[in-house]
Amino acid sequence: MSQKIAIIAGAGPAGLTAAYELLKRTDIHPIVCESTDAIGGIAQTYNYKGNRIDIGGHRFFSKSDRVMKWWFNILPRQGKPAADTVEKNHEIEYVAEAIVEYLCPAYAKASVGMPECSSAPAKRPAPDPEIEDDVMLQRPRVSRIFYRKSFFPYPIGITLTVAKRLGFFNTALIGCSYIWRHAFPLKDETYLDAFYKNRFGDRLYRTFFEAYTEKVWGVPCGQIRADWGAQRVKGLSLKRAVIHAVKDLLSSDFKKQQEQRETSLITRFFYPKFGPGQMWETVTKQLLACGGEVRMHTRVSGVHMKDGKVFAATLENAVTGESEQVACDYFFSTMPIKHLFGMMHPRPDGRVLEVAEGLQYRDFLTVGLLLKKLHVQEKGKKPQSDVPDNWIYIQEGGVRVGRVQVFNNWSPYMVSDRKNTIWIGLEYFVNEGGDLWIMEDKNLIELGISEMEKIAMIKREDVIDGCVLRMPKAYPAYIGSYTQLPVVREYVEKIPNLFLIGRNGMHRYNNQDHSMLTAMFAVDNIVSGRTDKANLWEVNLDDEYHEEKKS
Ligand SMILES: Cc1cc2nc3c(=O)[nH]c(=O)nc-3n(C[C@H](O)[C@H](O)[C@H](O)COP(=O)(O)OP(=O)(O)OC[C@H]3O[C@@H](n4cnc5c(N)ncnc54)[C@H](O)[C@@H]3O)c2cc1C
Repeated sequence: MSQKIAIIAGAGPAGLTAAYELLKRTDIHPIVCESTDAIGGIAQTYNYKGNRIDIGGHRFFSKSDRVMKWWFNILPRQGKPAADTVEKNHEIEYVAEAIVEYLCPAYAKASVGMPECSSAPAKRPAPDPEIEDDVMLQRPRVSRIFYRKSFFPYPIGITLTVAKRLGFFNTALIGCSYIWRHAFPLKDETYLDAFYKNRFGDRLYRTFFEAYTEKVWGVPCGQIRADWGAQRVKGLSLKRAVIHAVKDLLSSDFKKQQEQRETSLITRFFYPKFGPGQMWETVTKQLLACGGEVRMHTRVSGVHMKDGKVFAATLENAVTGESEQVACDYFFSTMPIKHLFGMMHPRPDGRVLEVAEGLQYRDFLTVGLLLKKLHVQEKGKKPQSDVPDNWIYIQEGGVRVGRVQVFNNWSPYMVSDRKNTIWIGLEYFVNEGGDLWIMEDKNLIELGISEMEKIAMIKREDVIDGCVLRMPKAYPAYIGSYTQLPVVREYVEKIPNLFLIGRNGMHRYNNQDHSMLTAMFAVDNIVSGRTDKANLWEVNLDDEYHEEKKS
């Protein structure tokens, strides 16, 4: 009998996890098709002249042990300080040893010089990031809001410093508005404005949430469904933020508290030495060494069905334009639902297509700036040439930049000359085809420089170089036909060998861990013979994943 084949559209976290799990646990041959020249999808890391840049910063944090172990198996946790640990006084939890299980003996032998047949779990000393590259760093999380030339903590909490910066009268009004809303909550929390007001009060919502959220989505908060807010600030409220701040003051036992904390309040996270892309490039190396296929510049452009099952896909070479039909036994899709349904043969019925076509997205653009130094002019303080933040929310009016990433603080190894340069990413939430999307790169770089000067964070003469990265469909939007998504789900449920996984694949605001879990659960189902896909859709609905709850 010939070997079964799975075609996987997309070499992002979900697609690569599916391929890895298939190769490890089944006899199915995975063929990953990636339309671009980059591994990692939205979680890729772009290397610009030795300076590495992410699409947004990607924290590696998960409440799923299965995912955390998976990550540490690919890139083990650090056992020694990183290049900047001592000078920045970072408190890091080192581990003594790594337990590593390679996908196959061939990879272990070729890449890590281990003796043959050593893909079984093996203990070895935890890596030193100054010597080895395959290492996961632990990094402190600092992210603040820049508003009216002052920094405020993110997530926002009302502390004495915050009250001073906002003004005591204003803070009193914020407190009153919170108490009022607590006493008279809005009953209908369908949309984001009501969701935030009920948790933070109307005045704090207007100060810190409204403008930024509208920048992200490009529509008023009253039109965005609350699900997005719910996933972003899971379980967080003003009351909890204050309790958290007090607890932090009273205790330094980070580890015990970490598990109990809300996602938005995590104060440390993991991050690969060379950014998230390194995780996915390493996974790809293992896949290739162990018999999997990853075809770059290969766009899936047709999905063919017969007798209620997918039997083949058309794979198109994005460089030559040549295409071929490849037979398959399973098809995994991480591509936008909209695209998948548009390329299915025969075409799904009208109602399903209408919902798929009505899904909307928000696109993302990063301007990378290499600087000699920062020049952050905080109210009442001397200009600062450096900041501790991983990222900063820009709440200042009159500029379109939404967030600033400081890659030196994600990992010192992201920057080629970290001692003499600062490498930042200015994030713009845009629409594909809109004015910023079509703007020439040099003009975007110019816009970034002038906006950063305007909000008093840099000086033009300190700019050394710049680059631009565009990421279409970075955010599946909870507007448009999103509420009718169950129609799509029902349709897919009837096709046993078609799996929608990942972020755009399921049109859900999934982080890497959620995206990976959907892939893992899909493979679990194949292995166990489970035919329904309910467990995939349960991922990221609440904090515990149902499969794990049971075990
Ligand atoms: C700004 C931002 C910040 C984020 N921060 C974090 C974070 O801190 N932590 C975290 O865990 N997650 C974070 N995420 C989420 C994370 O990026 C996603 O969960 C993850 O990348 C989704 O993986 P995926 O494989 O489902 O999809 P994607 O990463 O979107 O990958 C899909 C791949 O499919 C390819 N593709 C599409 N169509 C086709 C086709 N027809 N044929 C072949 N290939 C195709 C694409 O080119 C892409 O490479 C962030 C996302 C954004 C936008």
